[in-house]
Amino acid sequence: RELDVVVERASEGEGVEEELELLYPRRMTLRVKANPVRSAEGKVVSTVSVIEDVTDLSRLNRMRQDFVANVSHELRTPVATIRALTDSLRDGALEDRERAARFLRDLGQEATRLSQLIEDLLALSRLEAKETSLQLEEFLLRELAQGCIEDKCKLAEKFGVSLGLREAREDLSVVADRSLLRTALDNLVDNAIKYNRPGGRVDIIIREENGTAVMQVEDTGIGIPGEELPRVFERFYRLDKARSRETGGTGLGLSIVRHIVDLHGGTVEVKSRMSEGSTFTVRLPRRDSG
Ligand code: ADP
Repeated sequence: RELDVVVERASEGEGVEEELELLYPRRMTLRVKANPVRSAEGKVVSTVSVIEDVTDLSRLNRMRQDFVANVSHELRTPVATIRALTDSLRDGALEDRERAARFLRDLGQEATRLSQLIEDLLALSRLEAKETSLQLEEFLLRELAQGCIEDKCKLAEKFGVSLGLREAREDLSVVADRSLLRTALDNLVDNAIKYNRPGGRVDIIIREENGTAVMQVEDTGIGIPGEELPRVFERFYRLDKARSRETGGTGLGLSIVRHIVDLHGGTVEVKSRMSEGSTFTVRLPRRDSG
């Protein structure tokens, strides 16, 4: 019907350009340009319409707008807190040593949160531009995992969680971007530690499956409800905002993981049971180093 209206207006002698939203037979955005064709005497004898399917383009635009809105929202909270804290310090809290010390500590925390958010945003945007410049090299997955465990054992200790390597194949190598893959593993292990419980475990498992290198991070943590599983890789998606904020989460960690795995032509999936734990599985194709 909308298309008819546009063409009709053109047949009345007016050039028309419009974007139409269709719901049926599927959701589409069409850009329509309709122009009258006139005879030598200037009478409209027909119309010519060009219809362009701009569905993908407008989806991308919407995604970009959502992303900007999300980033602004995420930045607003720490900035508002920083302002409130500095206002209170100026309005007298500075005189009270105990409150001043607490406010300063909170200021530091908010600043750390802001810089983590900026770091993650930069990492995402670098990944998006990275398509052609992966620094590929051959290395042992076991070594990657050991490096990660060494770095994360302090964090694990802080959360009362034990961290280890299980079933780790000695000789399983991949050709991949070592530093990116390490970032992905670090993010998975960070989550497995943070969304755990005191006395819990985190294991990194490395094995081969039908010529594919498999790297798993298994935890005995709080779990993720089934209906939320497909969403955890979305940017800024957090199940428990309060807990994620408390532990310094930005909601970007898993989208960074997925991006890195995608760039390597691999897959990442998650299985989870509430109150029992979650397992994230990364599968990487085993390319020859030559
Ligand atoms: P965040 O910075 O909040 O950790 P992520 O993108 O890394 O962001 O993770 C998104 C959300 O998925 C987290 O906020 C958390 O709710 C959930 N999540 C991720 N990993 C785990 C896990 N191992 N166990 C339970 N929940 C998890």
